[in-house]
Amino acid sequence: MGGPTGDRMIRVDMTNQTASIEPYPEDWKLLGGRSLSARILLSECDPTCEPLGPDHILVIAPGLLAGTSAPTSGRISVGGKSPLTGGIKEANAGGDPGQDLMKLGYRCIVVKGQPADTNKRYALDITADGVNVISADEHKGKWNYKLIEDLTKTYSPKASFISIGPAGEMKLSGASVACTDSDQDRRPARHAGRGGLGAVMGSKCIKYMSIDAGKRPARKAEKSKEFSAMSKKYTKEYQEGPAQEPFPKWGTSALVTEANNIYTVPYKNRVEGRSPDVDTLDGMRIVESFEERGGGMHNCMTGCIVKCSNIVNDKDGNYKTSALEFETLTLLGSNCGIASWDDVADLDRLCDDIGLDTIETGAAVAIYMDSGEMDFGNAEGAKNLLREIAEGTDLGKAIGNGAVATGRRQKHKRVGTVKGQALPAWDPRPLKAAGVTYCTSAMGADHTTGLVVDPGQSIDDIAQASQEAQILNTAIDSSGFCQFLMPNIEEIAEFYSHVFGEQVTREQIADIAWQCMQEEWEFNRRAGFGPKDDEMPDTMKEDGIGPEKTVWDIPQEIVNKAYERFDPREELFTQKPS
Ligand code: SF4
Repeated sequence: MGGPTGDRMIRVDMTNQTASIEPYPEDWKLLGGRSLSARILLSECDPTCEPLGPDHILVIAPGLLAGTSAPTSGRISVGGKSPLTGGIKEANAGGDPGQDLMKLGYRCIVVKGQPADTNKRYALDITADGVNVISADEHKGKWNYKLIEDLTKTYSPKASFISIGPAGEMKLSGASVACTDSDQDRRPARHAGRGGLGAVMGSKCIKYMSIDAGKRPARKAEKSKEFSAMSKKYTKEYQEGPAQEPFPKWGTSALVTEANNIYTVPYKNRVEGRSPDVDTLDGMRIVESFEERGGGMHNCMTGCIVKCSNIVNDKDGNYKTSALEFETLTLLGSNCGIASWDDVADLDRLCDDIGLDTIETGAAVAIYMDSGEMDFGNAEGAKNLLREIAEGTDLGKAIGNGAVATGRRQKHKRVGTVKGQALPAWDPRPLKAAGVTYCTSAMGADHTTGLVVDPGQSIDDIAQASQEAQILNTAIDSSGFCQFLMPNIEEIAEFYSHVFGEQVTREQIADIAWQCMQEEWEFNRRAGFGPKDDEMPDTMKEDGIGPEKTVWDIPQEIVNKAYERFDPREELFTQKPS
């Protein structure tokens, strides 16, 4: 590969429905995924633009190692100004589109403009020969599963897809971007969920992108022998190490009980941090169902050695959804008082099909229930609410626009968001350093930007712990590695060094991540963000959970320390993500 030599980038102008291919800039050689998205957005997008207007930019950027033979390294970032938060956002997903784009040598897709007739639908066909913008009017309004079922009949069996469902077409702020997984059926089950970036893709009138890498082999590293040896060693150590136990066997869904023990399973719109239904929501019940119903664990993208994704079947043994993860089981389950994992699987399938973030949607449904309009635990009612989103009713639009919009409609005050984005399951009241991340990350309440699972941590440590986790997670989300592989910065540096045939130090990797965070903060500053946007919502300060009625009580001056870079400790380079 030799770094970016020969690499290209795709530019799409949706005002004229044209696409062009340009050489990839040498200056961006060490950027990928999230760091590349931030660089493009800060340099090419006016931060004050309307997120769903013609001046906005949508970035699709695979991680730097995508397309190579490094294990579990093909994730793809979707970036833009979030219609949910009004700030910069990156969300990433597994599946095969990232692998395929990079095998073709395309480091990113930058989409600008908007068609004059926004009732039209378009698609991007991407192959080794180039990119074409084609009409996709016939697919208008299709749910993700039906869309992909139809596309797989006409496209090559090698093609992967990036798509939006009706939520994205309706430009709802909770809309996700779907990527097809590595299964033969190429299901649209992997979602860049957070921040409403599906609405941004919808505002460009792009219904889907197809990427056909044909028989293109994996990308070659400059020091291919060393790269291959490192990949093999890393794989062996992972497969023989302790990490083999939780995720590959049970997926993240098995975290429910552990999280419940530390009061970080949201219950009934987060009025408690523990759920009495933990046994029927625990992912172990899903694993137990494999024997009778079929399904099982699989890898969502080619080359993943973790295989944490569960395939969930219905009682008749037919595929229902994949993957049913911890965040979904808690936000759409316990947080809505819904006790059965099978019901949550139905809700997950509806979210994937309509193209919705399960975290934002679960938070919105719980707020609706908490406002007294629907009983907690009403699983059928919740499913109907999701169908209403696809139908575009007024209520459906409010739920589809997320927690803040639902709270506003219901005139309900208990709304747990930071920067307008719903809190994930990992609760900032017991997990203070995670709370610092939610307050200071440019993305708002997003655990993937720097989760720290360490209840009872000293207040003196939380800002640095948050900052280190944010740097580590930024580095991972720029590399293409999945966070569930749990690589550290030192390992990322070693992989990069073999890719480029020159030493890339661990300090460089940390500096690139920090630079990315600074660019994201700068984007938000120019967009009008200020200190008020860094505050935890009142419900976290007033509604205590657990036996000690724990609340968020961290002074803002402690939170703000995460903005000033700490002297790096050894742990920064060697720690694994939480
Ligand atoms: S570790 Fe899990 S989520 Fe990550 S790429 Fe593999 S199967 Fe997908």
